[in-house]
Amino acid sequence: MIPAKTQPTNDEAWRDELRDVITDVDDLLTVLALTRDDVELTSSREFPLRVPRSFVGRMRRGDPQDPLLRQVLPLRAEDDETPDFVLDPLEEADAIAARGVLQKYQGRVLIIATGACAVHCRYCFRRHFPYDAHRQGSRFPGIDVIADDPSISEVILSGGDPLVLTDAHLERLIERIQAIPHVKRLRLHTRVPVVIPSRATETLARIFDATRLSVVVVLHTNHSNEIDANVAQRLKILGTVPLFNQSVLLRGINDDAKALIDLSETLFEARIIPYYLHLPDRVAGAAHFDVPVERAIALHREISAALPGYLVPRLVRETPGADGKSPVSI
Ligand code: SF4
Repeated sequence: MIPAKTQPTNDEAWRDELRDVITDVDDLLTVLALTRDDVELTSSREFPLRVPRSFVGRMRRGDPQDPLLRQVLPLRAEDDETPDFVLDPLEEADAIAARGVLQKYQGRVLIIATGACAVHCRYCFRRHFPYDAHRQGSRFPGIDVIADDPSISEVILSGGDPLVLTDAHLERLIERIQAIPHVKRLRLHTRVPVVIPSRATETLARIFDATRLSVVVVLHTNHSNEIDANVAQRLKILGTVPLFNQSVLLRGINDDAKALIDLSETLFEARIIPYYLHLPDRVAGAAHFDVPVERAIALHREISAALPGYLVPRLVRETPGADGKSPVSI
């Protein structure tokens, strides 16, 4: 049982920020001193703009090419139909073990803890995921599958983003998972502590501390400008929980060696281990972010020559049906 649900004073600030995200493109452009003449926008509302103000505060005003802005701005290029860029590039429909539960790899399962995110990343491989069909609700029906399979030692909370869940909801979910004796590790994939740093609270740290499961947090950061002093400071609140980072190699955002080197060094200063550098998944609407594999390998060689090994993320891609991430090399 996870003890003592306490409520330190600042714990609700992140929820206010989550409610106050920018969803109107014109509001975003105004904040950044840009106009519609500076950018070519899509008219589609299928995967609408969503970005927290704290993240916007790290964008350069007056720069339509800002690498943080490019990650969230719905551009007209998303409307281009490109062969090979599909709705479900990782064929996750074939990995569904139960409602809200995906099993892609041996010994691990992934729970779609929520369909909601704090930010909508334009390159997201789940941008077309049928979240409504995978709602867990408060009973977490998918967990029965995990209890029935003793080979599962690790549960991954993903989504959507599990850290948009309230602390109470997260605690209940972790209680259900830790009650399964064969589960040893709990991994959270999240972008929230980067885009809304106030989500890193003492209560969250206590929740992680209190579970018998070994907790690992995998952050998602693509550019060094995302990690400012405030993000680094807030992450310290999470104490000794191991923090890893996965990035996506994105054309026009981080596809140069200096940007990747800066990212690794900045992550490490914030005590985050650069872990994966993913080739972008070929999801419909995101072809304009694609980086050719030869270019990715060349960049990876450059950063490997410039950085110590522990700062070099593994260059990988996810291949449907493979038994793990596939390393990319010639
Ligand atoms: S936060 Fe993660 S799941 Fe949500 S849109 Fe971004 S990449 Fe996709």
